[in-house]
Amino acid sequence: FRRYAVEKVEPFAHEWHLKDELIPIEVINELAELGVFGLTIPEEYGGLGLSKASMCVVSEELSRGYIGVGSLGTRSEIAAELILAGGTDTQKSKWLPRIASAETLPTAVFTEPNTGSDLGALRTRAVKHGDNYKVTGNKTWITHAARTHLMTLLARTDPDTTNYKGLSMFLAEKLPGDDANPFPSAGMTGGEIEVLGYRGMKEYELGFDGFDVKGENLLGGEEGKGFKQLMETFESARIQTAARAIGVAQSALDISMQYAIDRKQFGKSLISFPRVSSKLAMIAVEIMIARQLTYFSAFEKDEGRRCDVEAGMAKLLGARVAWAAADNGLQIHGGNGFALEYKISRVLCDARILNIFEGAAEIQAQVIARRLLG
Ligand SMILES: Cc1cc2nc3c(=O)[nH]c(=O)nc-3n(C[C@H](O)[C@H](O)[C@H](O)COP(=O)(O)OP(=O)(O)OC[C@H]3O[C@@H](n4cnc5c(N)ncnc54)[C@H](O)[C@@H]3O)c2cc1C
Repeated sequence: FRRYAVEKVEPFAHEWHLKDELIPIEVINELAELGVFGLTIPEEYGGLGLSKASMCVVSEELSRGYIGVGSLGTRSEIAAELILAGGTDTQKSKWLPRIASAETLPTAVFTEPNTGSDLGALRTRAVKHGDNYKVTGNKTWITHAARTHLMTLLARTDPDTTNYKGLSMFLAEKLPGDDANPFPSAGMTGGEIEVLGYRGMKEYELGFDGFDVKGENLLGGEEGKGFKQLMETFESARIQTAARAIGVAQSALDISMQYAIDRKQFGKSLISFPRVSSKLAMIAVEIMIARQLTYFSAFEKDEGRRCDVEAGMAKLLGARVAWAAADNGLQIHGGNGFALEYKISRVLCDARILNIFEGAAEIQAQVIARRLLG
């Protein structure tokens, strides 16, 4: 994976970012060949059956090349976790092999304009019509929404509730779109949200108006379980995001160390000035701490032990470490770091997202503090 990132990702990442384009489909096809989309899916369902710890190593190395590429597998990982933990046998044998091979690319459709951290309060409705459901409502911040085939869609099936209890998870099928027609499915519209960083898959706001979802695609075949099913995926998703953060931090270190060696002032390489080399040393120390905490969380998960606190800590710390590494790396670049032309400017933008999605820093801190309080 490191070799792949060095040859096929890192040399192109900055151009993808500046042009604000989708990562080429060839990259997805090559990653599929390498098994990225079925890494932790059991072999009986067409995956590689590897551990969460392996998933961390892969996420880190791909994100070190480019966060966008390290994140291509994130939604497949979430969908597979949802189906493995909450799906019926039929849903497992139908969807897991397709997700593992990347024949089906999923997107995660949870957040709404008025509901982010407090997902339990979401309002998008799914109403039963014969055997199927009609979905109506607005979603936002949906990554990779256009090019994908399947939405893990959280919606309210019990209109008499306003909390998490009335929510259900759907494996909602959609047609993949292209630039000319990003959302070809009936009952669904979308618009792109322009973003600072974390480009390559694009983010969208979505509108559903009587969008049809097959009844057989209600996860687990039971209403009202959606929020609990999603919560079961939080530990893995946070561990994977922590691993992505470490990859981003490592790329800041790689880029800045090279710059500090190459750039000369006062007749010497910048790296010979202690104030510069100590910045690089601290970045390396912080990456090591975050990486070990992330591995530890993954090992706990692999052993089937509860690890919400450890995963929350790894995600919280990883995001901070990535941001600090990018910020210090940019400082080492001086004025050049502020130029869009230099890679570190992208890494700074990419690092910033890690503290916001997959549970913002404040939410991770809340999870940790609650457990501290017993
Ligand atoms: C680039 C990007 C990609 C994304 N991709 C997806 C995706 O694919 N699918 C999807 O469903 N969502 C996605 N999201 C949405 C993301 O998960 C939310 O942005 C995130 O959950 C935060 O929700 P919010 O933006 O509504 O912020 P809010 O919930 O409004 O929070 C705003 C601020 O208040 C803080 N806050 C909120 N509640 C509390 C509290 N109880 N205590 C302390 N502080 C609090 C937050 O931490 C944050 O700092 C994406 C977001 C971005 C920016």
